[in-house]
Amino acid sequence: MSGFDLDLFVIGGGSGGVRAGRMSAAFGARVAIAEEYRYGGTCVIRGCVPKKLLVYAAQFAEEFEDAAGFGWEVGPRSFSWPRLIAAKDREIDRLSGIYVRLLENAGCEVLQGRARLTGPHEVQVGERTWRARHVLIATGGRPVMPGIPGIEHAISSNEAFHLPELPRRVVVVGGGYIAVEFAGIFNGLGARTTQLYRGEQILRGFDGDVRQHLAAEIVKKGIDLRLRTDVRSIARQADGSLAVTLTDGGALEADCVMYATGRRPNTEGLGLAELGIALGPNGAVRVDEFSRTSLPHVFAVGDVTDRINLTPVAIKEGAAVAATLFGGTPTRADHEDVPSAVFSQPAVGTVGLTEEQARARGLGVDIYKTTFRPMKHTLSGRDEKTLMKLVVDAGSQRVLGAHMVGPEAAEIVQGLAIAIRMGASKADFDRTVGIHPSAAEEFVTMREKWQPPRQAAAE
Ligand code: NDP
Repeated sequence: MSGFDLDLFVIGGGSGGVRAGRMSAAFGARVAIAEEYRYGGTCVIRGCVPKKLLVYAAQFAEEFEDAAGFGWEVGPRSFSWPRLIAAKDREIDRLSGIYVRLLENAGCEVLQGRARLTGPHEVQVGERTWRARHVLIATGGRPVMPGIPGIEHAISSNEAFHLPELPRRVVVVGGGYIAVEFAGIFNGLGARTTQLYRGEQILRGFDGDVRQHLAAEIVKKGIDLRLRTDVRSIARQADGSLAVTLTDGGALEADCVMYATGRRPNTEGLGLAELGIALGPNGAVRVDEFSRTSLPHVFAVGDVTDRINLTPVAIKEGAAVAATLFGGTPTRADHEDVPSAVFSQPAVGTVGLTEEQARARGLGVDIYKTTFRPMKHTLSGRDEKTLMKLVVDAGSQRVLGAHMVGPEAAEIVQGLAIAIRMGASKADFDRTVGIHPSAAEEFVTMREKWQPPRQAAAE
């Protein structure tokens, strides 16, 4: 180890960097980690965790209403956004502190400040420079917004977590995870919510049935979803409200315009280009299957590599780097059958291939799908439907994908993901006994192959 102060310098204290740092230290490596903002990264500080807390808050509105069908009399209710935000901030502070302690307890040197590569093995933070045998870039990403006139009046999800009050009228721009989730949060909490998406249907890349089904459900819940339109300009009016003009000729008034139009890797100012580390067109660090950059001793994991931008994937990538470098087990990042959820209302859970992806691969597919009213709503009277769908390889009968829109979709699909990764067949699903009464049992009781309407009529 001579000549090096450290075995690993990790730049970025988010999910991927922290896991890699802790695991490397546990393998006996000398590790330092630097974070310029708050330990925990996007997921803990201004992503998954605070978002999920806001989703819980938003769901209460319907819970109070639904309770009436079960004999409850719920009195007058009111909602305090500042109280919710303060409670959320306390929890985020707690979690960020835990991240720091976990690193310290693992024996990592925990630094606060912006790190920069000043030589192939040199990392500088403030006045100090370290010589590190290996470097891991785990600097994440940040929201991007298009440069339309008046974009300075819009916020991103970063600011949405710190609004001083709940806006009365919100326009959410985008059709991806973040836009769909925040439209649901604002709408649930009582803001008049319009969601604008430039394409044909929200959640591009998800299964077509899921996209249609969720769009119909969120519209029922009161979101004014407008497809095939976008913002042309935003202007601040004399009364402080925002005038939003649309590409379809329409206009909206709002108190807040939130953009969720994608994220970009944080690679600027780190000294990467100067060292010849290859970057992709959107600035993402290019890596091989071991998360190794074009400089063999420099690695990168998580959103900064723009592969699958999900926290658990970054964690696995970070763990794989630690195992490769210090655990004596060269480990590839694993991107097969990654399950994910959109915490919309109702939620989406998905794993494996969509019907469209399976067909695009030239596979013959059997489709099983069902829509039904969740049992709870037989008494609540709420008009909400759940969708479940299995995509099955017609030849091998292997289940290629499972998709769901409905309450607890994330909890249900997590378990299915294990079966699908193990190569379960439709017959394996069929011979599994359901848990009754549950929604999840539908996944093991779908017997009828779905037929396109025309074909069904002909038979
Ligand atoms: P996404 O890339 O998922 O979605 C971006 C959306 O904005 C798309 O609908 C896209 O449209 C639209 N868009 C892009 N550029 C423009 C533009 N110039 N004008 C108008 N619309 C535009 O990004 P998100 O910001 O929603 O999320 C980033 C990533 O974070 C996700 O991909 C996901 O990996 C991760 N994430 C995961 C969550 C989870 O697991 N629950 C939650 C939140 C984030 P089009 O489809 O036409 O390109």
